[in-house]
Amino acid sequence: MSRIVIIEDEPELAAGLRDNLEFEHHRVALAPTGAEGLKLAAQKPTDLVLLDIGLPDIDGFEVCRRLRAAGATMPIIILTARGQEIDKVRGLELGADDYVTKPFSLRELLARVHAALRRAERKPAAKLQFKVGERTVDLVRQKVILPKGELPLGYYESEVLRVLHEHVGEAVPRNELLERIWGVGVGPADRTVDNHIVSLRRKLEPDPKNPRHLLTAHAVGYKLVL
Ligand code: CA
Repeated sequence: MSRIVIIEDEPELAAGLRDNLEFEHHRVALAPTGAEGLKLAAQKPTDLVLLDIGLPDIDGFEVCRRLRAAGATMPIIILTARGQEIDKVRGLELGADDYVTKPFSLRELLARVHAALRRAERKPAAKLQFKVGERTVDLVRQKVILPKGELPLGYYESEVLRVLHEHVGEAVPRNELLERIWGVGVGPADRTVDNHIVSLRRKLEPDPKNPRHLLTAHAVGYKLVL
């Protein structure tokens, strides 16, 4: 049983999500505004946040940024409108883990919730830190440490880096990343891995347009070079 906070201002959508998650024995708290959601997520240990982008007060990006800035490491799944690739990347950049596109199928959303909760349960066995150029990746704290400051990593970003680091210097096929991280049957669109790479490049590369560490292996996948 997990505690899930839903931050969504459409009452019918929020109630539908709550009913389905409660049916699966999760405890659910609903927040119709960003401020209320931040409060609920801070009140009690929270295992997962479902976060709408368009909220009546502060937007979902800001909610995500504030959660991560406060040190929260639970998975955050953002709910975004169709075709908003920019939203997706921006959300990931701010430390969200995954996104679903509205209107979504309930089945897809629940599959992603389950996958995120399963991932979150698996704590890393050992402390894992490594340098990527001038920056340090800390997979336990889910941060990129810069010479000045830190950037948050989402769960899936951390997992992408973990798998690429296991095969450092080698190309890892996109399919392998999808299978190992998102799980077979979840069926994320093909852009899932690519959006996470775009977001990771912004965190790891001094010049994200000319990557030197997170390289595209043409027609195969991606490769990490330290
Ligand atoms: Ca909304």
